[in-house]
Amino acid sequence: MFGNNVNDTITIREIFLTENIEKSPVNFTISNEELITAYSQAEEMNLEVIGIFHSHPDSVPYPSSTDEKYMEINPVTWVIFSNTHDEFKAYIYNSGIVPVPVKIM
Ligand SMILES: [Zn+2]
Repeated sequence: MFGNNVNDTITIREIFLTENIEKSPVNFTISNEELITAYSQAEEMNLEVIGIFHSHPDSVPYPSSTDEKYMEINPVTWVIFSNTHDEFKAYIYNSGIVPVPVKIM
């Protein structure tokens, strides 16, 4: 997700879709090529890569232990949609998983 952060309010302005190279319903990995493309496109638009979105088709919208590991490496806003709960939740990693409010506009 591309956007900007003004006074700790993150606004998502563009979505860059990526392929899950793991082809798995449980885990996901974005290729390095797509990551490089994403960062350069964001820069061209004067936006930042401000968040990572994925869904949990069969579970709650809370980071898995794998998510937590990658959140620590990529401390952007992580948005998770749960298909079972039909809701979006967002988190940041700051010495642990911290929920952040989501407003859909
Ligand atoms: Zn997850």
